[in-house]
Amino acid sequence: MRRRDFLKAVAVGGAAAALAACGGGPGSGGTAPTARRRYRWKLVTTWPPNFPIFQEGVERFAREVRRMSGGSLSIQVFAAGQLIPALQVFDAVSRGTVEMGHGAAYYWAGKIPAAQFFTAVPFGLNAQGMNAWFYGGGGIELWHEVYAPHGLVAFPMGNTGVQMGGWFRRPLKGVEDLQGLKMRIPGLGGKVMARAGVNPVLLPGGEIYTALDRGTIDATEWVGPFHDLRLGLHRVARYYYYPGWHEPGPALELSIHRPAWEALPRELQLIVQHAAASVNLWMLSEFEARNPEALRTLQERHGVQVLPFPEEILEALRRHSAEVLDGLGRDDPVFRKVHAAYRAFQEHGARWREVSEQAYAKALGTGEPVKTGGAAARGAPPAA
Ligand code: CA
Repeated sequence: MRRRDFLKAVAVGGAAAALAACGGGPGSGGTAPTARRRYRWKLVTTWPPNFPIFQEGVERFAREVRRMSGGSLSIQVFAAGQLIPALQVFDAVSRGTVEMGHGAAYYWAGKIPAAQFFTAVPFGLNAQGMNAWFYGGGGIELWHEVYAPHGLVAFPMGNTGVQMGGWFRRPLKGVEDLQGLKMRIPGLGGKVMARAGVNPVLLPGGEIYTALDRGTIDATEWVGPFHDLRLGLHRVARYYYYPGWHEPGPALELSIHRPAWEALPRELQLIVQHAAASVNLWMLSEFEARNPEALRTLQERHGVQVLPFPEEILEALRRHSAEVLDGLGRDDPVFRKVHAAYRAFQEHGARWREVSEQAYAKALGTGEPVKTGGAAARGAPPAA
């Protein structure tokens, strides 16, 4: 048997076995078995079981794919540790131990420093900007290029929106208040903070509360009001600073074992892409919908001081961020290439953002409710 014929026979045999394993579908035994081939995939995540929005969104993705494909592609979802430990998701998908993974590309910064651009970098793009880059600015293509040597493709699937800057036990007046501060802040944000005099500490989510309570750390960042309230951080720190300059719109990733992806029929690939895009929007929308109530609860019920970082601190952090990114690119051509593309996209959009979202935010004024005695107050429908 020639090699190609052998491979073909194996592929057909595999399809037949897959059909037999699920007892065939409606009309099984028809004339086009390949069209009805059923795929049973596994997806491992970096999130704890039932973790709101993140794990919820992944479950939603699997459900949507199963329904849209009429059961042709069913994906079993495993939370961190159920099949694979959180930080081994990349390797498991890369090797094909499982077909899919969900997490954040910057978790793999140790292997691929450039991966951080596909999640968030300090003073980088916000959620809207990340989506513009991914879908309209060549971001996904670049991501695939960076992941190709690792046997992976990836698509954006989820975004927290701009995070909060973090919880501090003492108020910040200027850069001198950062000196010697022990803060839980991972990744590039931690590297930038280190240049500003902070001792960055790495701690998983489950250990933050106790560390802050015992004074092992003086400050921490986590996500934003909704998740921070659940963690109870307001009970161990009073000062809640904004904005999350270090994570302005972190994107989450759906990673797929490349050979499995390439063997998937085109219509199932499209279903996966559309379900991922739908959950990408769903997660961001959940954050936008749930954060306001959590912020109100933190401020009004728990008396948390919600404060902007002093401009002097932001200015120093901006400067240090540029130094850190340039430094990382020095010996890493992949990092340099992605950084250049990312920066060009961000700079290219600056003027447009200035006259659109930024100008509109300014035009809206402060968070005070707008008082109007006009048509709106009399119950007329608001203008679009
Ligand atoms: Ca964070």
